[in-house]
Amino acid sequence: MKAIVSACLLGEYCRYDGKTKKDDSVTEALKGYEIIPFCPEAPVFGTPRERINVMECEGEKTIFRDSGEDVTQKLQNEIERFVAKYPEADLVVLKSKSPSCGIGTTPIFDCKKRQIGVGNGLAADIFLNHYKEATISDERRFHSL
Ligand code: SF4
Repeated sequence: MKAIVSACLLGEYCRYDGKTKKDDSVTEALKGYEIIPFCPEAPVFGTPRERINVMECEGEKTIFRDSGEDVTQKLQNEIERFVAKYPEADLVVLKSKSPSCGIGTTPIFDCKKRQIGVGNGLAADIFLNHYKEATISDERRFHSL
């Protein structure tokens, strides 16, 4: 059984601020799984790095840096490279609230960079579309176990 897991949950120091979000409840629950770490931002932007955000503007979702640069294509290329390398998974556990990994928890901004709600990060969108047979959730699922 294969589980794709956001690398920061596994203890990697790959967050934008150079920190980790190590979550022992996740690693404990996934004992016995073949773990495939996933972090699309660190290889593309380095660590630490400028924070990125999700914008939904005129029906289109884009990822932009605090400084305004549109980095959607760069991030998408890295996520698609990962999916091509690991085409199958039984379980996917992503980090909540991240502009890449969040599922229904990521802050979404409008064209004027005002927060208008929460939604999916870019990787979550692509994973939900690709890993249709997998159970996809975030780390909060394991906190009540
Ligand atoms: S939330 Fe996703 S993109 Fe952000 S550090 Fe963790 S694995 Fe990387």
